[in-house]
Amino acid sequence: MADKGDIELAAVLKRYGGAIAVDSISLKIPAGTYCCLLGPSGCGKSSTLRMIAGHEEISDGDILLGNEVINTLPPAKRGTAMMFQNYALFPHLDCVDNVAFSLKMKGMAKAERRARAMELLRLVDMQDYAARLPAQLSGGQQQRIALARALITGPSALLLDEPLSALDPFLRAKMREELKRLQKELGISFIHVTHSQEEAMALADLVVVMNKGRIEQASSARDVFNKPRTAFVARFIGGHNILDCAVDPADGNILLPGNVGIPLAPGMGGARRRISVRADHARLGPASGGQAGFSGTVRAVEYLGSMVHVGITPQGLLDCSIDENEFAVAVDEATFFAAPVAVGDAAAVSWKLGDVHILED
Ligand code: ADP
Ligand code: MG
Repeated sequence: MADKGDIELAAVLKRYGGAIAVDSISLKIPAGTYCCLLGPSGCGKSSTLRMIAGHEEISDGDILLGNEVINTLPPAKRGTAMMFQNYALFPHLDCVDNVAFSLKMKGMAKAERRARAMELLRLVDMQDYAARLPAQLSGGQQQRIALARALITGPSALLLDEPLSALDPFLRAKMREELKRLQKELGISFIHVTHSQEEAMALADLVVVMNKGRIEQASSARDVFNKPRTAFVARFIGGHNILDCAVDPADGNILLPGNVGIPLAPGMGGARRRISVRADHARLGPASGGQAGFSGTVRAVEYLGSMVHVGITPQGLLDCSIDENEFAVAVDEATFFAAPVAVGDAAAVSWKLGDVHILED
């Protein structure tokens, strides 16, 4: 028996004319989940969200809320609420009336709906601005009003399309914390579309990485980061090196730089295999017994505060290619400055075999 707040997408497809924007995706979002749809521009995130909201027709497949197929229900009957990117506040209504608007549409008496709107304004910490018009508010404050307005219907899921992208970086970080706090407090699902991996990692219980209308991976932020399923996910999440290595036909081992090998995972075959190594798991310095590694030239040094990023271009690497021909090492600040390197220096890089992650695709 599904919880009434569970959302399920079953082979959902969206076609615009002849073009497929969302390609038969299936996904379960348990009630009370902070879910982020993450991916590059044009991968189908907004279309997916709008189909859940009921603002876009489904070309094929089913969307279920609880046990109910909601494909053809109008937005207001779905138990979902959407917060729009441009907030879409009514300019001539003050904050209380903006927030109370949908209750007015439902025929709730004025005193009652205004009291309820005040509760929501308190929830988003905007009770002192109740009598202001939207034009008298900052962008961040308008966003809080839009949030309160979406939440007043008591939805079992709140849908947010790039809610933080219009804010400056400081406000964005603050609102991010607040969205998370609100979601936990309300105990409902938030489905939040973003193209920022940092935002998704910071917020989501469930990160859904999309690419060209398909789901590449749907898992916890830690799993997406530590066990990216595909090279696309590893690249998009960042902080990983991706190596394309030959497989030894004699023993089926993946051949890594430094003349070491690791066995293919069960069920994997092929003449080549891609692997990933986290930049912060690699270190500067030659490989010691049983480790992988190579030597090359420092091509980039970037000071990032707690970490220093060093990019190394390999020399004479056989049977293995690296994305962009540059291997990134994230060195903590103290370690770096104990033995600094500069662009143009010769350097070696190494990593433990246990830190190698085998990619499926
Ligand atoms: P995202 O939100 O990930 O950037 P969208 O869901 O907006 O992606 O778009 C996915 C694809 O569908 C894109 O190729 C986009 O151009 C196309 N698309 C989106 N909306 C429409 C529309 N109303 N009509 C035609 N094509 C659309
Ligand atoms: Mg979009």
